[in-house]
Amino acid sequence: MVFRYRVLIPVLILSFLFTLGLDSHEEEGYLKEAREKMVELIKTRGITDKRVLAAMLKVPRHLFVDRSQWQSAYDDRPLPIGFGQTISQPYIVALMTESLNINMGDRVLEVGTGSGYQCAILAELTDKVYSVEIIEELGRKASMVLKELGYKVRIKIGDGYNGWEEYAPFDAIIVTCAPDHIPTPLIQQLKVGGRMVIPVGPTGLYQTLWLITKEKEDKLVYKNLGDVLFVPLVRR
Ligand code: SAH
Repeated sequence: MVFRYRVLIPVLILSFLFTLGLDSHEEEGYLKEAREKMVELIKTRGITDKRVLAAMLKVPRHLFVDRSQWQSAYDDRPLPIGFGQTISQPYIVALMTESLNINMGDRVLEVGTGSGYQCAILAELTDKVYSVEIIEELGRKASMVLKELGYKVRIKIGDGYNGWEEYAPFDAIIVTCAPDHIPTPLIQQLKVGGRMVIPVGPTGLYQTLWLITKEKEDKLVYKNLGDVLFVPLVRR
């Protein structure tokens, strides 16, 4: 309850001020404050990795959504990004990123670029980020925003079910849309010792978020991270 109010009150103030109209300096200040509150909230929900928290504090999530969504940009919930797709909830972004334990220099593949926000978080942790998006307009827009912010990530338009052979094998793979089974190419493109986080389950229902570690070439270890709700992984 206490946390609800700690989030709700600043959000109400922010909405009110947006309605009145802020100058850009004030607006930046409020957005920064809202971002700090968001990070405090995800800490209380159990995220402890300092590198992940620092990345979440730094990346301006509002720049990955339409301006009409700015007042909700730091709410802990998914937001629409067009084409029936969503930018994931900040807590889930943090949980998935933390589970992958990414170190500088790790080669990371994302399936489902969407807005590019998750890409930016990954790019704060390593200099080798590759992301595949199936909707061309989203991939292009994400590329532009990331470039503008100075992030060097490679984005390709295509079906991420097949991973990205050219840059494989990967130390970590993050899938931000839900298939109904684990794509074999992604397992093949994971290094021994590599980690993959992926929501798996039927379309339109809750999925199970799995952390899969490839302990040996023929040994995968599965950890259930809980129920989640993602848009489906679609095939071409
Ligand atoms: N990580 C994103 C969340 C995007 S939502 C972010 O931070 O904003 C999931 C995305 O997966 C959508 O953009 C959707 O178009 C994309 N997607 C669905 N099926 C896909 C596939 N087979 N290959 C690549 N991307 C896919």
